[in-house]
Amino acid sequence: MPTCEYCNRSFSERGIGTHKRYCKARTEIVKEEGKDLVQRDGLIVRKAELSRETNETNINLILNIDGKGNAKIDTGIGFFDHMLEAFATHGLFDLSVQAIGDINVDCHHTIEDVGIVLGKAFNAAWGDKHGIIRFAERNIPMDEAVASAVLDISGRPYFAFEGTFSEEQVGDFTSGMAPHFFRSFAMNAGVTLHCSVKGKNAHHEVEALFKAVGRGIDDASQIDERRAGAPSTKGGL
Ligand SMILES: [Zn+2]
Repeated sequence: MPTCEYCNRSFSERGIGTHKRYCKARTEIVKEEGKDLVQRDGLIVRKAELSRETNETNINLILNIDGKGNAKIDTGIGFFDHMLEAFATHGLFDLSVQAIGDINVDCHHTIEDVGIVLGKAFNAAWGDKHGIIRFAERNIPMDEAVASAVLDISGRPYFAFEGTFSEEQVGDFTSGMAPHFFRSFAMNAGVTLHCSVKGKNAHHEVEALFKAVGRGIDDASQIDERRAGAPSTKGGL
């Protein structure tokens, strides 16, 4: 069986190529050498840095899919910051979001546009998606509330949502913006995403939803080292 020269683990003939594209030990060596980490010699580092400026919002976002859950979020909307932190913490993404939006109007544009940029960042960071698990399902409770996320990193954007929120507003966040955010995310990430919530407290319902999608996206983003190439009978996603 072939062995990875960076981490000394053994893999199948099919899996060694997939493994070496993402090998964490190899990433560390490249880092120590102070070299540019992005897609060097076939090494895939799943990071993206995006900016987007419109008349309504100005957003700077940095994402590392294979992070440690470090979040640095400032959107001017307190509860939304808390939700993005939960998404990053439970998905183990390193995520920095700095957004300046027209929150004097309301929270709509800022939340929608962060969803767009976050979706584009995941899409860019996944790259050719070789070796990814692709599918995931998560049900996450928070006290009386339960949220679910069923998803496919398919390249075919789709969003469906079932449920209602028990209060219209959570602090400075309008509850109905939660599904709107994940719709923007799914459409720009190229993800098929089905979500639902039920509960009696909107804070719990929204927070469970962000955690469920974060966990689900992390599950589906993991690398299956038995697989060579993209997980599709068509050969690409
Ligand atoms: Zn290795």
